[in-house]
Amino acid sequence: MRIVLLGPPGAGKGTLAGVLKDTLGVLHVSTGDILREELKANTPLGQEAKKFIESGGLVPDEVVTKLIKNKLTNDSRAKDGFMLDGYPRTVNQAKDLDNILDKLGMPIDCALYMEATLGTILARLTGRRVCRGCGKIYHIVNMPSKKDGVCDSCGGEIYQRADDNEETIKNRMKVYTDSTAPIISFYEGQNKLKKVNADKDSQEVKEDALNIFNGSR
Ligand SMILES: [Zn+2]
Repeated sequence: MRIVLLGPPGAGKGTLAGVLKDTLGVLHVSTGDILREELKANTPLGQEAKKFIESGGLVPDEVVTKLIKNKLTNDSRAKDGFMLDGYPRTVNQAKDLDNILDKLGMPIDCALYMEATLGTILARLTGRRVCRGCGKIYHIVNMPSKKDGVCDSCGGEIYQRADDNEETIKNRMKVYTDSTAPIISFYEGQNKLKKVNADKDSQEVKEDALNIFNGSR
């Protein structure tokens, strides 16, 4: 299965991909993770991305697309299927992705839109904490670390992202809705769009998603 996960920040894309990658035997491709890997390995692409991050800007479309292309082309596990999380974010990226995958002979099977209400997203994101070391995600209520402020996996420091506050979340939600509506139509036009109610808890969302994927094989 080759899957694109769509949905606003806090819809649970990373969580769903994390629990489904083993069940489905697919590679979880997260732009955040790839970026961290490239920065750590100090690759030319990593250095390119670093310039934008250090100047406080967003990594531009073409750099993100290169990162994704690299991963899908060079990681042999991608041939057995993958789940993209955090990409594409714009219709241009969706078109770039189609071009990349056409050349690889690996078209997308399904775009899953994780629909969540603002109330759900606020509750999830204001309680979210992230490990500085490995990027592992926690939640103060739903998924606390064993030891306060310390990552279970790597012992790194757990912190709250500056943009996980109510005002910024509302703003990110609006930006997301504006830029994503066209992507939804894009995949609808290809008959590849499926929707799941992401207000439900992660176990239910997982089951709903599995039913959808099994139906679109
Ligand atoms: Zn960690």
